Amino acid sequence: MIIKLDNPVSDLMGVGSALATRLKKLKVETVEDLIYHYPRRYDDFSQVLPISKLLPGPVTIEAQILRVATKRTRKRGFTITEALIDDGSGAIKATWFNQPYLAKSLPQNVPVYVAGNLEFKYNQYALQNPVVERVSNFTKNTARIVPVYPESEGITSKQIRGLVEQVLPLIKQLPEILPSKMLSRSLLDSIKLMDRAEALEQIHFPESTAALKRAKFRLAFEELFVLILAGLTLKQDVQDSPAPKITFNPDTAREFVNNLSFKLTDAQRKAAWQILQDMDKNTPMNRLLEGDVGSGKTVVAILAAAMAMECGYQVGILVPTEILARQHIKTLELLVSKLGYKLDLLVSGLKKTHKQSILEDVSSGKTQLIVGTHALLEESVKFKNLGLVIIDEQHRFGVAQRNQLKQKSNLLPHLLVMSATPIPRSLALTVYSDLDISIIDELPKGRRPVKTEVVTVDERPQAYRHIDAQIESGGQVFVVCPLISESDKLGVKSVEAEAERLKTTLFSHRKLAVLHGKMKAIEKKAVVEDFANGKTNILVATTVVEVGVDMPNATVMLVEGAERFGLATLHQLRGRVGRSKHQSYCYLFATSDYQSRQRLELLENYQDGFVLAQKDLELRGPGELYGQAQHGLLDLRLANLGDHKLIKQARASAEDFLRQTPDWKKYPHLLERVNQLKTVTSLD
Ligand code: ADP
Ligand code: MG
Repeated sequence: MIIKLDNPVSDLMGVGSALATRLKKLKVETVEDLIYHYPRRYDDFSQVLPISKLLPGPVTIEAQILRVATKRTRKRGFTITEALIDDGSGAIKATWFNQPYLAKSLPQNVPVYVAGNLEFKYNQYALQNPVVERVSNFTKNTARIVPVYPESEGITSKQIRGLVEQVLPLIKQLPEILPSKMLSRSLLDSIKLMDRAEALEQIHFPESTAALKRAKFRLAFEELFVLILAGLTLKQDVQDSPAPKITFNPDTAREFVNNLSFKLTDAQRKAAWQILQDMDKNTPMNRLLEGDVGSGKTVVAILAAAMAMECGYQVGILVPTEILARQHIKTLELLVSKLGYKLDLLVSGLKKTHKQSILEDVSSGKTQLIVGTHALLEESVKFKNLGLVIIDEQHRFGVAQRNQLKQKSNLLPHLLVMSATPIPRSLALTVYSDLDISIIDELPKGRRPVKTEVVTVDERPQAYRHIDAQIESGGQVFVVCPLISESDKLGVKSVEAEAERLKTTLFSHRKLAVLHGKMKAIEKKAVVEDFANGKTNILVATTVVEVGVDMPNATVMLVEGAERFGLATLHQLRGRVGRSKHQSYCYLFATSDYQSRQRLELLENYQDGFVLAQKDLELRGPGELYGQAQHGLLDLRLANLGDHKLIKQARASAEDFLRQTPDWKKYPHLLERVNQLKTVTSLD
């Protein structure tokens, strides 16, 4: 059979249904997936040395296996297989644990490579669990730089190497997607780009360290180049369509600002200015408003909404949770109700007749502004003249969803997306190269850093005493637990059990409420309102309160099982307090495990989301970016988003290329990749 990219992996030799199922869990379903399943690291077994010259460490020898024997060890149920290996210059012992079947399969008295770690143990040198492979022109497990794949689902790297070997002929024929002009130029550090097929071959089975480096560079460059190109062309497409004109009216802006109970920060004013200018143009705005938690993005967005409504356009605001939707409606009522507009809320689970009347008012234009969750994306939602779409916490939404809302109108509406994803500007420009960016880089005046403490078991009583004192002086408390109800997971706190415990013991004299996603909408609403009105002191919740929730009177955030959450989530959770002039506190209740402690302590030391992201990156090493999930479905396998030089180079190349090649769509493979990206990444 001729194997093609879209063949299922089960068409490969040796892939039965069991292995196919396990591969599927690694997201490897087709031959193409397999090819892009890159090694995680490499072991260098390329040096083949005579036994007499071996030094401890990873080694390969070319020899013959003379004797093999398997015996039981003193520990019951364990076996040890030993072999004597001789290459003429000397002999050495190899041992394998618990692989009794090996004794039969080891090829004896023929030339083999034996690769493994040479260790000095029990007074002699021995190879522990080495890999044996017959000598040939192409070896995959020995006598080379050996790829090590992400281990998981009980699939060994050796198995994957065997599969990749089967598709090597296909890899070698894969077409180039970058224009040949680019391949001949030398880029960063005067590296020339390796061609694609070769790079893919080298990434799996590198010939040398140098070749591997070039392969990685080539593939990382391509990832970024294509991503940026997709963004840039998208931007062009948008710029070619006419937009609803939202004329900047200085009186509206002035009145809005004067009615606020606070003064806008300079950063807010600048962002608002950029947005209002954009909407005044006759091409649609496509802008990201980025600012750390609590920086005050909402009010800026509402000003934009007010301007749009003043010009007779409707506004749609999409948010990830119902709690947030209700909160925005409240804020809006406070800020724009005087203007006499009809605002509506669309969430799931509304009564049919109620929902029907909302839909009618939106489509007739009677409702000027609607805030909603995913329900807003349903097909039945039609606008009369949608002028501005605002998406809050945009990383919670996929591409398709962003598009859906934009398509609900005959003119392409202006788009403002908001996010607290703390990525540096240069990076944001790359990841979201279809968007313009406004950054709010300062917090409102008078905010005090949230005092953050990692609390171990024996420090808890003291923390609780302090929390009670906070309540005494009028503050409110969030307690966040990883689970809703008790499960078998030992020691993991649940909202229900923890609320019961606190209510009957430590805080029997306080008012507690619970909040989680499985509650009925009406219950949630009541709980949130009571907390907002100060009727409850303590809110025990799941991470439903993670994003957006704004309760300025809350001064304590207590997170149970803190080590179970990512830094990005914890930073967001902490952002729920410290939203007023009062000193706030964040307690991270954790086990004393050293590694997780080290990570949590970053929160003790840093308040700034950007800095945290950077520190997290340093701690975990490149490749695992802070809040990876927050970048939508962005699938960068080799490109390290911390590599500014590479990003800059890729961006410059993409811009040059587009300028010099207006007819770039004539490159079919490149076009195909770009189109794929437009549908799967967080680009539109
Ligand atoms: P985020 O950027 O996280 O969405 P919000 O928009 O929810 O932040 O604002 C956080 C809180 O700060 C809100 O209570 C809001 O009213 C308040 N706020 C916003 N701007 C200012 C300002 N310039 N001065 C004082 N408080 C402000
Ligand atoms: Mg917000």
